Amino acid sequence: MKVIKTINSLKKIIKKQKQKGEIIGFVPTMGALHKGHISLVKAARKKTDFVVVSIFVNPTQFGKGEDFSKYPRTINFDKKLLIKEKVDILFLPSNEEMYKKDASVFVDESFLSKKLCGKSRPSHFKGVCTVVCKFFNIVEPDISYFGQKDYQQACIVKNMVKSLNFSTLIKLCPIVRESDGLAMSSRNKYLNKKQRKQAACLSSALKQVKKLIKTGENDTKRLKSFIKNFISKTSPSARIDYVDIVDCNSLESVKKIDKKAVILAAVFFGKTRLIDNEIVLTTKRRR
Ligand code: AMP
Repeated sequence: MKVIKTINSLKKIIKKQKQKGEIIGFVPTMGALHKGHISLVKAARKKTDFVVVSIFVNPTQFGKGEDFSKYPRTINFDKKLLIKEKVDILFLPSNEEMYKKDASVFVDESFLSKKLCGKSRPSHFKGVCTVVCKFFNIVEPDISYFGQKDYQQACIVKNMVKSLNFSTLIKLCPIVRESDGLAMSSRNKYLNKKQRKQAACLSSALKQVKKLIKTGENDTKRLKSFIKNFISKTSPSARIDYVDIVDCNSLESVKKIDKKAVILAAVFFGKTRLIDNEIVLTTKRRR
């Protein structure tokens, strides 16, 4: 695995690989890698010839007072994992390499990014779209891999690809979970023992509600109340940011589940804000 730190040298390598006719797979990450990230890398390794993974803690996607400076950075550990997965290139740019001082152009999605996480993190997706757009221009991937864990992010990126005519395919990979159901996340490292135990209530609530939907409940007001009550009861100190059930493409809240929908939630455990989601299909039996 080559570690590349500059845009120009990466572009040169990509050009060569493309001339050879190789299919480029790309996995953007912020590092502190875990099995969730690695599942994306494995998917890329399986389907593409040349795998590029980026590790970049993108400053523009962190709001004021968010965890940019304390975001976990475990680069030596990450490198070992990526070598094991036979990654071809680790792209490891500095902030200065990615953002020139006079940069004045940003990419702002104006519809999907205003909902759900966008309400409590108003500039977050502008930072995400800008950096992903830059990566797409640098790496020119044929296939890019994103996790369902960040469902809203994946929807926004798909929309960006369509709107701005990028030619990369976006592959969505399933959520990898800990044994108690907690979605793996670099931010889980922030949790103390008690919070870590409580944090499992988020995935449990979503799982329970998925079961309710299977038995025929399709009223989203009742389903959302169920999730909120479940979390409050099992983890009284947790603070719910939002719980919503939305159309899987438009991310608009739905009243009834009568087609593919997504249940999403963001919950604070102490200062740590965790997100999770479940995709649900139509109900089998109406109540
Ligand atoms: P991050 O480093 O948190 O920006 O994540 C990089 C990519 O890994 C994103 O596409 C995430 O959705 C994905 N990812 C993060 N956690 C998981 C997980 N538990 N399962 C699957 N994919 C994940």
